[in-house]
Amino acid sequence: MRRPMVAGNWKMHGSQATNQALLAELEGHVRPDWPIDIAVFPPYVYLADAVRALEDGRIQVGAQDVCAEAGGAFTGQVGASMLKDVGCSYAIVGHSERRRWYHEDDTLVARKFAAALAGGLKPVLCVGETLEEREARQTESVVARQVDAVIAMHGVGGFADAVLAYEPVWAIGTGRTASPAQAQEVHAFLRSRIGAHDAKMAARLRILYGGSVKAGNAAELFAMPDVDGGLVGGASLSADEFRQICAAAAVHH
Ligand code: PEP
Repeated sequence: MRRPMVAGNWKMHGSQATNQALLAELEGHVRPDWPIDIAVFPPYVYLADAVRALEDGRIQVGAQDVCAEAGGAFTGQVGASMLKDVGCSYAIVGHSERRRWYHEDDTLVARKFAAALAGGLKPVLCVGETLEEREARQTESVVARQVDAVIAMHGVGGFADAVLAYEPVWAIGTGRTASPAQAQEVHAFLRSRIGAHDAKMAARLRILYGGSVKAGNAAELFAMPDVDGGLVGGASLSADEFRQICAAAAVHH
């Protein structure tokens, strides 16, 4: 019912030379008949090159962030319509690294979500709790607050063209993955939270898991009924790891 998706967040890694090699390898690895969506998220400066390198469109390209403003005097920022203009399909909003290091709060993330949609991009909204919050049994209240901020600002309608990613902060870049049962529990909670507003939309919404997804754990995570693929950081920089993660998602369509 839901087409799985595997998204590769390259973070601040790569160069023209290494990106070219990685994309060429990925294109060679990815099977055209896999019934999944695949996207890579290189740093801004490499987006146009990535779009050109992936001309046939089998692998789509997205940005790791987007400005909340549509355009104007905002030095250093990049707007959704610019990203669309160079061929991007998606923009990640609310990644925990941006929430943490750049102090992005729920309101700003909700504005970025709307800006992405207004510019013709599909937002990939990241939500997730820290280790302290999990240990204090606040996981559900934290992810509910993060999702509710978007719904409060724009209604639930935006989720029709969005992707949600559950990324427990304690699992990102740490090698410590949520167990399939832990991921499933939060994914089901998120789907029901959105389902309380619009059950049909919630049933169609893709919810990706992110946090140390690797070739070795992807299959068991993607086997969970509410896990519709992965948002992959570190392992997306290896064509072979990423291919195996995509193959695991293709099995669970
Ligand atoms: C991420 O950056 O979204 C992520 C999940 O990273 P990693 O896979 O490296 O934990």
